[in-house]
Amino acid sequence: MAIPQAVPGMNDVLPREVVRWRALEDAFRSTCERYGYREVRTPVCEYTELFQRSIGEVTDIVQKEMYTFTDAGERSLTLRPEGTAGAARAALEHAVLGAEPVARWFYLGPMFRAEKPARGRFREFHQVGAECYGDDSPAVDAEAIDLAVSYLHALGISRYTVRVNSIGSAATRAAWRESLVAYFAPLRETLSPESQARLTRNPMRILDSKDPRDLAVIPQAPSVLDALSPEDRAHFDKVLAFLDALGTTYTVDPGLVRGLDYYTRTVFEIVDTSDALGAQNALGGGGRYDGLFTELSPDAHVPAVGFAMGVERLLLAAPVRPVPTRFAVAVVAAARSDETSLHAAVLALAHELRTAGVETYVDTRFKSMKSQMRRVDDLGARLVLVLGGNELARGTVTVRDMAAHLQTDVDRGNVVAHVRSLASTAESSR
Ligand code: AMP
Repeated sequence: MAIPQAVPGMNDVLPREVVRWRALEDAFRSTCERYGYREVRTPVCEYTELFQRSIGEVTDIVQKEMYTFTDAGERSLTLRPEGTAGAARAALEHAVLGAEPVARWFYLGPMFRAEKPARGRFREFHQVGAECYGDDSPAVDAEAIDLAVSYLHALGISRYTVRVNSIGSAATRAAWRESLVAYFAPLRETLSPESQARLTRNPMRILDSKDPRDLAVIPQAPSVLDALSPEDRAHFDKVLAFLDALGTTYTVDPGLVRGLDYYTRTVFEIVDTSDALGAQNALGGGGRYDGLFTELSPDAHVPAVGFAMGVERLLLAAPVRPVPTRFAVAVVAAARSDETSLHAAVLALAHELRTAGVETYVDTRFKSMKSQMRRVDDLGARLVLVLGGNELARGTVTVRDMAAHLQTDVDRGNVVAHVRSLASTAESSR
């Protein structure tokens, strides 16, 4: 029988890669916390309706990419395709903005979209994201972009472009939509089949197309920047002025619309320019979504801004730094495999070291001494503690420093302190 396989597009992260994942997650947590954002954790699964209402019925995600199922209680549930909807739902449900005027949250975790798997595009992928609720000022738009960029720097990613645009408030978008339809409708036959379908459903998304038939007519399409109301324009100009003041390099891209329905005014995207990602080069994106809360609850008027970045893509783009070698200790039994009391002594010593905070390895198969030594050598143990009949009789432990090729006998009662002092010397000289 064939061995079981993971679902295509859903990946295992093996222990040697987890080291990099954790570094990336830790960097996100500490960067967000420096900006006053606090971690939130929401379920991976929500009522399907939440995503239909927030992301929008006519988006690719809702139309064809959601993992939706009916549970035993006949409820339609969906594995979250992104983090914004669940976080906004949680903020509403817990009346967070009744308790504080502005809330800054961040999250990280798995997201699910039934897309065609490719390099950098998966069905289960991971996002880190940040959201700020209750502030409609352009300063927080700029702060969100600054936070995203600081995070890239923390990861050592330096080859990227920040693209920004404003798609205006709801009224602006409605007017711009009309002018897009008026422009594209006479060209209908020349558009790709996908864009023909978008013409009635979501004409803004035509601007996202990479199809040569669409690219031929997109540059002359009405620019959203010409459709902005004076208030939208003033908001956008301030965002750009703040980015200038922060020293953030950006490009204004009037063609940037982003896939989800809930955006208003500022939208942005960060693309990798190092070629490490191939076609899927968007590291992340976000923007303002002042209408989202009202979609979820008609009385809620909460301005909001946020972004999300793809962890798998950040890992592809980030330089691989050597993982520092860890100070590890091994305890080995210098006798054959049937000596229960000796093995018990080895386990007890390892337990004591672990309780004292020392990473300790025991080859619990307890084969020959030679075999145990080969294993701990492969693992790169710095210190090997040997317990055998002689040591037990004398009440000592033989401590072998593998790097210094030194061997000493240490009293059993002092061995934990001895190892800890060697460990701290090794830590501080690293
Ligand atoms: P979005 O929520 O679509 O704005 O996506 C934000 C970021 O998440 C993207 O820029 C990607 O880095 C990442 N992302 C989105 N979809 C996928 C996917 N299917 N596989 C891997 N990463 C993804």
